[in-house]
Amino acid sequence: EEMEKQAVDGARRAFNSGRSRPLQYRKQQLSALLRLIRERQAEIVSALKRDISRSEFDTPIFELIGIENDIKLAERNLADWMAPQPVKKTLLTITDDVYIKAEPLGVVLIIGAWNYPWSLTLRPLVGAIAAGNAAVVKPSEVSKSSASLLKELLPQYLDTEMYPVVTGGVPETQELLKQRFDHIFYTGNSTVGKLVMEAAARHLAPVTLELGGKSPCYIDKDCDIAVACRRITWGKFANCGQTCIAPDYILCHPNIQHRVIEEIRQTLLEFYGEDPKTSPDYGRIINQHHFDRLLALIEGCTVAVGGESDKSQCYITPTILKDVLPHARIMQEEIFGPVLPIVTAGDVNEVIRFINERPKPLALYVFSSNKKVVRRMLNETTSGGVLVNDVMVHYTINALPFGGVGNSGVGRYHGKHTFDQLSHHRACLIKSLAMERLNMARYPPMTPSRLRTSMFFLRSRSGSCDQALRAWAVVSSLLALALLISLLVVLLRVSAHAGLGSVLL
Ligand code: NAD
Repeated sequence: EEMEKQAVDGARRAFNSGRSRPLQYRKQQLSALLRLIRERQAEIVSALKRDISRSEFDTPIFELIGIENDIKLAERNLADWMAPQPVKKTLLTITDDVYIKAEPLGVVLIIGAWNYPWSLTLRPLVGAIAAGNAAVVKPSEVSKSSASLLKELLPQYLDTEMYPVVTGGVPETQELLKQRFDHIFYTGNSTVGKLVMEAAARHLAPVTLELGGKSPCYIDKDCDIAVACRRITWGKFANCGQTCIAPDYILCHPNIQHRVIEEIRQTLLEFYGEDPKTSPDYGRIINQHHFDRLLALIEGCTVAVGGESDKSQCYITPTILKDVLPHARIMQEEIFGPVLPIVTAGDVNEVIRFINERPKPLALYVFSSNKKVVRRMLNETTSGGVLVNDVMVHYTINALPFGGVGNSGVGRYHGKHTFDQLSHHRACLIKSLAMERLNMARYPPMTPSRLRTSMFFLRSRSGSCDQALRAWAVVSSLLALALLISLLVVLLRVSAHAGLGSVLL
């Protein structure tokens, strides 16, 4: 208990010292984090090998490059992100400074999950540092080699008081959650997500919840099924299916189910050979608890491909289930493993209904060459992210916000979105004490004429202030012109009287 409290108190003290605010400090911490990723890559890769039998090639591609790109983006743009962002002026603020300023929130708690333990803790941390916050990092106890390596490495590179690492399981996380934070950034399942939000509510702390759920994958009959199946196979079986945005299940027309199965079978052979158990590219289930959970999910379903397992190694072959019924157990919860059920559906209407009847997914995948089908799927469904004709790669595009909607999460991150998520966007209006006469209309004692004047200034006008000014300019020049003409007329009349203008008029 003491340890968790000490870490939070230390981070709070460090934040209150103000040293995390200057641009220079933030950039220095970010580049130190980049050095950690680069210098310690071999150790990180082997920790993941121990945790989850991840291939040495997958860790750089699936985890480290994302962290690196976020750091480099922040380093390049941080000065701009931190600068005041001027907003449009109105008649009321024409002589004022009006801007939005991103400010640090304070102390952020980052709770990570085990499936990508580096990316899920360090990408939020990049944003926390960039935004000038302190952060307490709590990696998942489930991927224990990664957790202890993170605890060992982070203090060697970063300000230890500002960014402490707390390891441990449920009791330690619960202890942390009793403390006051200025933001809680949680990645993991939705059940614990609700507990985190409850704990945050006690301190009115804002949350980011990166949750999971079932991400559907629709294969239209009008599409290159071979290419679709290669992309889906890659996304589903990478990290042994333990990816939050892995396609959870396939929806397709009964007429193409057989082809889909055969294409995936072929691709699996191409990727992992005759015996995936001996392939260095094929991983393992994180632990026996999840291994048992997955086998229970397969029970009672029709296996089309795979279905073998070895408990001593937490190994399950890439498995495809066919003709799965919507009420089967495997369709009730997120699979999070190398098991791919196929549910058949008649037409696009039925597919859309199927998706919309279920909780809002984190990702939705649509494979189709038919523009009308694609448009309908985009317009008539919702999800955290949607990809047409590919899976998972939206995760690598840090210009896109990453996050869920409804049951799949709250908030978004990656790239500048993390900076925004972990900043307070402060409204700033800087006026002078001059021109007090203009304010008289808002002060009592009120009169109808003061009200009219106030309303004139307060009423929002379509178009910008510039347009209003231009309109004013046009009106006043017209008035001036009219004045000039009438003056001229008067002048001519006068001169006519004098007997000189008779020639002219
Ligand atoms: P997990 O078991 O590692 O738990 C996540 C964190 O919550 C851990 O740090 C753990 O200590 C803490 N925790 C667990 N139980 C707790 C409790 N009762 N009280 C307080 N803290 C507790 O990870 P998990 O939940 O098995 O992760 C898998 C889930 O996460 C899947 O649903 C997956 O889809 C989702 N996920 C989402 C994303 C995303 O970016 N949206 C990424 C990865 C995983």
